[in-house]
Amino acid sequence: MAAAVASARRALARSTKPLVCYAVEQLPAKKGGDALYEQLRTAVASGDAELREALTIPACDARSWRVPAGWMWRIVCTEGPQVADMNAWSAADPRERFYTSKTRQMHATHLTVGDRLWSNMPFMRPLATIVEDTIAYGFDEDGAGVHDVIGSRCDPYTNHLLTGETKNDTCHSNLTRAALRDGLTEFDVHDVLNVFMCTGFTRDTQQYFTKPSPVAVGDYLEFLAETDLLVSASCCPQGDVSMACGAGGEPVTYPLGVEVYQPREGLLESCGWAPSEPSKYAGGHGL
Ligand SMILES: [Zn+2]
Repeated sequence: MAAAVASARRALARSTKPLVCYAVEQLPAKKGGDALYEQLRTAVASGDAELREALTIPACDARSWRVPAGWMWRIVCTEGPQVADMNAWSAADPRERFYTSKTRQMHATHLTVGDRLWSNMPFMRPLATIVEDTIAYGFDEDGAGVHDVIGSRCDPYTNHLLTGETKNDTCHSNLTRAALRDGLTEFDVHDVLNVFMCTGFTRDTQQYFTKPSPVAVGDYLEFLAETDLLVSASCCPQGDVSMACGAGGEPVTYPLGVEVYQPREGLLESCGWAPSEPSKYAGGHGL
């Protein structure tokens, strides 16, 4: 009898069409409205936003920068195809940081225009919103997309497990050194947005795979800071990640550009935009 019940449950699962878990359209609307976010896509080109800071993330290293609420930043492909592993924290309290797994559940495995970067519990609010993605790759016939929130980051621990060797030129180590410069520690480094990285899961074994990044010089991914942020990114020592981890070979690596822009005074506020606020859940947890 028990076996029959179990068999029926297996059959039910196999025959049921997928149900999308989170109804994205039920999330609170973007403050300022979709028209504002559409305007921000071209704010720099139309003179509605001014460059306030520009920096270079050196090849095989990480840099951090601050973005006030309501300002924008870009990660720009300046010299050649290169992937970046990005972290973000609330500037006011670094315990609040980018939460890739919930972001993945809310939006998708790969992020693009309109998707938001959510923070961890108990804060759970948009840290940032993607306003422009010049690659707009979508998903190819292998199911690969760009800018994933699947992968964690390359790190010396996994490398040691796989090869027994000590390797410090990894995104995790790069981000750790940047975190220490910002008064944070290795424990503050978290799962990343893989900017420009082209990845997916194999159809047959559902294993994480990579392809050469489709990014070309001039491409950028642009964000609006929904609260005051500290952002950090590593130029992955795997370059465009066209080779599997531990496959040998010498990856070609490049630096990346970062540009921070301030929208024209009052542009966001006149549309009703305001910084995001932490979750209103009272935190009872049934205690
Ligand atoms: Zn990496």
